[in-house]
Amino acid sequence: MKRVTLAAAIFGGILILGGVLTALATIGHSNEEVLRGFGLVLISFGGMCIAIPVYLEGVRLRNQHRRADGAPVAKRNLSPCSVCSAPTASLWCTTHLIRICPACLPRHDEPSRCLYRTLGRHSASSRGVAGSASGRS
Ligand SMILES: [Zn+2]
Ligand SMILES: [Zn+2]
Repeated sequence: MKRVTLAAAIFGGILILGGVLTALATIGHSNEEVLRGFGLVLISFGGMCIAIPVYLEGVRLRNQHRRADGAPVAKRNLSPCSVCSAPTASLWCTTHLIRICPACLPRHDEPSRCLYRTLGRHSASSRGVAGSASGRS
């Protein structure tokens, strides 16, 4: 895989170089539009030759990394906290429209305004938090 990427990069580099030289050769010759166009096509094609295997390599590395990371399923349920951006947010403030984690809750909390919903789970436990917050005025 890596050798293919390298070969494609070299091939693309040669194409780009050829395209640049072709385009340069047409400078000053206004009647060689076709040749200049051909040079530009060579440049873009060479760029593609480099970009595609590099992109594929990047995807492969990312997949490898994700697999090595482990437990991507467990992480998917947790949203980042809007205050500290830790991936542990479990509450949603419906007043301020932000996600919040238990650690940031005391700092954010405005008892007269904030209404919370639990994230991820469809449980009635959010009512306890919301009820205590909305009871006062
Ligand atoms: Zn937080
Ligand atoms: Zn709030």
